[in-house]
Amino acid sequence: MIHDDEIYDQLRNNVKEFVRREVEPIAKKMDLEDYFPVDVFKKMGEMGYLGITVGEDYGGSDLGYLGQAIIEEELGYSSPSLALSYGAHSNLTLDNLYRNGSKDQREEYVPKLSSGKYIGSLGLTEPMSGSDALNMKTTAVRNGNKFIINGSKTYITNAPYADLFLTYTRMGKDHSAFIILATDDGFSRGKKFDKMGMRGSPTGEIFFQDLKVPENRLVGKENEGKKIILNGLNSERAILSFIFVGLARRALDEAIKYSVERKQFGESLYKFEMIQDKLATMYTRYRASRLLAYDSLKHLRKNGMDVKNAAASVLYSAQVSEYIAREAIQIFGGAGYMHDTGIDRLMRDAILGQIGAGTTEIRKKLISGALIKEYREGRNID
Ligand SMILES: Cc1cc2nc3c(=O)[nH]c(=O)nc-3n(C[C@H](O)[C@H](O)[C@H](O)COP(=O)(O)OP(=O)(O)OC[C@H]3O[C@@H](n4cnc5c(N)ncnc54)[C@H](O)[C@@H]3O)c2cc1C
Repeated sequence: MIHDDEIYDQLRNNVKEFVRREVEPIAKKMDLEDYFPVDVFKKMGEMGYLGITVGEDYGGSDLGYLGQAIIEEELGYSSPSLALSYGAHSNLTLDNLYRNGSKDQREEYVPKLSSGKYIGSLGLTEPMSGSDALNMKTTAVRNGNKFIINGSKTYITNAPYADLFLTYTRMGKDHSAFIILATDDGFSRGKKFDKMGMRGSPTGEIFFQDLKVPENRLVGKENEGKKIILNGLNSERAILSFIFVGLARRALDEAIKYSVERKQFGESLYKFEMIQDKLATMYTRYRASRLLAYDSLKHLRKNGMDVKNAAASVLYSAQVSEYIAREAIQIFGGAGYMHDTGIDRLMRDAILGQIGAGTTEIRKKLISGALIKEYREGRNID
């Protein structure tokens, strides 16, 4: 009998091999040319990575959030931007649709997203509503057995390439979620953004003008979108952490190697106490962020709406990855400031960690809010 641990060890080894073969050779090109490798994305579908949380009957691998976290971590080690696009597809869109979609929606769309036939994208953020996400302006109005959607979304990962958009709208005072296809009349794409980091993960705008969808494209119940939004953000935060855990491990690996190879004053850098201090602190924070991230998965499985652990995980892993990437650049000295070494890419990519899926400030607001609520309910921190 194969134990769970062995299955996940095997998955990690497979992903590492996939990353070595398919991702590492193009990671630099993705950054320098802002190149999104559609073919590699489709291969991730063939490997079973895209539908990792989806049941086998819908073309998935059924390895849950732990499987998804392992893939994010290993992709994040080589290409945080590919990991970001993977997360937008596999977690934000596919897993969300799989959890909340009707049987017909699952049958129609989940296998296409699991195989990579469709690229998925999630539309929440709008020009006037980012942190205040529920205050969106995009509307859906019922018209017989159809809904008419008007509005726009911005900063959407995968938007320039996606076939399917899980899109949140306002409906009266409440919210609803819809499946919108790139082929729908009334759908259009805006510009692809030119970013400082996470280059190669395409980010864009989308517009809906009198876009009509049949009622079978409504995900979940009418006006019950808020629960889907908040639940989705919670799982997104826990899973996103792993990109930054992987990124931090890469920056630390590169810094250790350089500190052995590079000599000054006749000694390898690692012989200097100030460099030893850096390496030891980098490792300790990396390790703590990794443990916190895996711990957050337990809470995610126990209770999908345990807000504080998912927020704490991504808060810390994002801050730690930025710190470690910055220290790695310092250890590289002038070489770290050059594109050639690739350490600058890790720093630029790490900054997104404090912005996406709710900013650092919003995460702190969520954590402190949950602590006060639990205190008022007479609960102690476990
Ligand atoms: C590369 C990239 C990819 C993205 N991908 C997606 C995606 O796939 N789908 C999607 O829907 N969105 C996506 N986003 C959007 C992202 O979620 C938002 O950028 C983020 O939530 C912040 O919103 P904002 O940019 O409008 O900033 P704002 O909300 O305008 O915030 C500006 C500043 O004010 C602070 N602030 C705001 N409110 C408060 C408060 N109450 N207390 C304290 N400080 C506050 C913020 O923390 C921040 O520092 C992406 C963004 C980027 C950069």
